[in-house]
Amino acid sequence: MTKSTLLFFIGLFSFSTAFSFADYYIDRVTGEQLGSDGSETNNLRVIDIREWNYVIEEKGGTNSAPGIRELHKNSYVITFDENQIQKEIQVMADDTMNEGLENQVFIVLNVNNGKIFALRDWEPELKTNKQIIINTYGVGPNSAPRVREGLMLLAQLHGHPKEKRDDKRNITSVSELDAEVAKELGITIFAIDAFHSFDISESKTFYNHSKALHIHSVTKEGMIKNFIGQTFGKSGVNTFNFSNYFDTVLRTNKNSEVL
Ligand SMILES: [Zn+2]
Repeated sequence: MTKSTLLFFIGLFSFSTAFSFADYYIDRVTGEQLGSDGSETNNLRVIDIREWNYVIEEKGGTNSAPGIRELHKNSYVITFDENQIQKEIQVMADDTMNEGLENQVFIVLNVNNGKIFALRDWEPELKTNKQIIINTYGVGPNSAPRVREGLMLLAQLHGHPKEKRDDKRNITSVSELDAEVAKELGITIFAIDAFHSFDISESKTFYNHSKALHIHSVTKEGMIKNFIGQTFGKSGVNTFNFSNYFDTVLRTNKNSEVL
């Protein structure tokens, strides 16, 4: 590494830490980050873009004291229910193992209260051993996908069950189709390898008796990462933390990414 490259990275690092105290705002329709305010807290918030624009036009901007008050009054702090997310995912993974069929869980943001949680999608007729259908709809121009009223889809998780036919092979990681869907919907897709312990465990559909299973992912940009962590299982070793993941994803400003 040359000296100038090294200095460049150090420069970037101090740039990002210098601006770490502010609340970041997510558009309730598009899911995109609108920007930050001048507050001394460090929350993520979901807001209507009309409120955001009103503060810019009428309240002295998002860094002014009246602007910050207005923004906080008209937005919701985003919170994560990590325990609920872990339980839903483990039960879904267990069901995938037991049934030999793909099951899915949605990670959603309720834009009307800021809560991020897991939602099991129960549509048995849509399940097969190699794919599952994600039903979404939009609520406006450039809308992020919605799965229920007020529920913005951030990610989908599904289990890859054991393939029993000899002429088929198991896909351990995310498939090409998973990557395509992730890009098309603009969400992260997680695949859980739900067959490596298929023969070992008489898994009960309760997380306390469950095995920790490997998780793979593909981002909305199509970037595949394998073995990012495991489901909670019985002991919670190397458990992937979804709250940390989505906190980082939602804080990433598309505009500064270009730099
Ligand atoms: Zn898949």
